[in-house]
Amino acid sequence: MSSETATHETRVPPDESPAECPYCQRPLESAELLTLHKGLDHWERLDDDERERFRETYAAESESLRSFRLKLLGLLVVLYFAFLFVYSYVTTDPISAGMVATARGPIVGAL
Ligand SMILES: [Zn+2]
Repeated sequence: MSSETATHETRVPPDESPAECPYCQRPLESAELLTLHKGLDHWERLDDDERERFRETYAAESESLRSFRLKLLGLLVVLYFAFLFVYSYVTTDPISAGMVATARGPIVGAL
């Protein structure tokens, strides 16, 4: 596999003592990232315990990513309505008011 001989660009500071992959010597920031890296890049070389550890770490990572996405979605909804309320409170633009009036006109007329 080409990834085993490639050099990797990392953001690990040189004075830190990161976790290092025993198969390709890639420095990683934490033991969890090392477990994920070994599962993704060196799956064939792992024993059953390491594979099980990878599955557990992967599931935990997926769960925290899912809750992060939900929080971001909630923040987006809150921001949307905050801007909508601010806009509806602040706006005095007669063109926008006219667009609302003409948009209502044909609907009311059709009924
Ligand atoms: Zn590796």
